[in-house]
Amino acid sequence: MLVTHLHADHFGGIVFLILDGQFRRRTIDLTVVGPPGTERRLNEAMEASFPGSTEVKRRFVVRVVEHRERTAWATHRFTALPFEVRHAAGAPSYALRVKNAESGSCIAYSGDTEWTDALLDAAQGTDLFLCEGYAHHPVRWHMDLTTLQTHRHRLETRHLLLTRLSPTALEADLSTWDVAHDALTLTV
Ligand SMILES: [Zn+2]
Repeated sequence: MLVTHLHADHFGGIVFLILDGQFRRRTIDLTVVGPPGTERRLNEAMEASFPGSTEVKRRFVVRVVEHRERTAWATHRFTALPFEVRHAAGAPSYALRVKNAESGSCIAYSGDTEWTDALLDAAQGTDLFLCEGYAHHPVRWHMDLTTLQTHRHRLETRHLLLTRLSPTALEADLSTWDVAHDALTLTV
């Protein structure tokens, strides 16, 4: 499991995934790859949600690996490369670039961030770049469509797809953008 940053709407669900695995008698180990501090924040979230849950013996191991800036983490199925971005989450936040080891196809995800040129590197040469399109006008720590439009031509990706739009962004003129929606399935 790859985590961009340590806000609950991006990593809080892992608590329930672990508990679900416990109740379903999961036996496959779970690897969580996230920002420095992920293990501590995950344990705090576990204890805040279900006191005592970090002491429970399970049939699977939860292993935490920390991102290292622009250093690849690889499995036999894919390679993940983190690029630090600008989003305050109590620990560094990252855009992630993931390459399929078999097909060579490559996608990137901005996570939450205001504009940073690190996104150019994350998106370069990708088949798909999922980018936050949170706000219509500039707002701190998040991407806005006005700023993204000024940098759009610099993003070297085959397909730019907006995700995570706020109500105000959804009310903007989106006719020149490709916007993700619930249950969207894409093949790259
Ligand atoms: Zn966030």
